[in-house]
Amino acid sequence: MNSAAPFQLNLFEVARPLSALFDQPLPPRNVVMQRANQLAFRLSRDLGVPVRLSVTDNRSTMVSFRRAQAALRIRVHHMFLDAPERVVRAIADYAGRGRRSAGPVLDEYIRGKQPLIRQERHPNESELDPYGRFFDLQAIFDRLNEGYFHGGIQARIGWGRMPGKRRRKSIRLGVYDHQTREIRVHPSLDRPDVPGFFVDFIVFHEMLHQLFPSDDAAGRRIHHPRAFRERERAFPVYEAALRWERDNLRLLLKA
Ligand SMILES: [Zn+2]
Repeated sequence: MNSAAPFQLNLFEVARPLSALFDQPLPPRNVVMQRANQLAFRLSRDLGVPVRLSVTDNRSTMVSFRRAQAALRIRVHHMFLDAPERVVRAIADYAGRGRRSAGPVLDEYIRGKQPLIRQERHPNESELDPYGRFFDLQAIFDRLNEGYFHGGIQARIGWGRMPGKRRRKSIRLGVYDHQTREIRVHPSLDRPDVPGFFVDFIVFHEMLHQLFPSDDAAGRRIHHPRAFRERERAFPVYEAALRWERDNLRLLLKA
């Protein structure tokens, strides 16, 4: 029997909601962590598969899941942290066994916990929508995070705003904000004639920015330190992506 923890917690997401969340006092962070741990453990034990749990402060999606290669990823609103056994079982049924019968149990629980669902956006929570018409940035991010970073990059990702109609001479295809840990991808990439490997490359590049923050050497800011560049060059489609960008920049500028 493998004694390694069968689950992982996304600390970033557990940490984020706790400050400005309710008017009522919240349990301290370590208590929340402990509950999240227990919940992940119970789900994993119930289902017999590794579970990767994220705790959210979402306003609309209370439970969601996705089967990843290494683990079943489950995202739950923090209202579920002290859910009773039958509700935890319903999460497992829903996310792990695809049982529709779990729906009413979850719905009823969520209805009873309505006051815990935040009505307002966090003040600095901007719109960040990962779902484009052609590319799902969240899926791309998750796949790259799993494949190249051991799941260690903690960031939100979404499409940037569509810029005005004026002519552009250059275009910034991605941006990473260290403060908010947000990746934005230029919306001109969300079109069917942009190859998936190129979007992969842009997202990968922005993820590297979290791993290798810019370097202040001799009073000069180096946005892409040497280690950054080395990791970037090792990305399998590095050459192809640069080539594609060179050959198609005009198309992107026109978008
Ligand atoms: Zn960069």
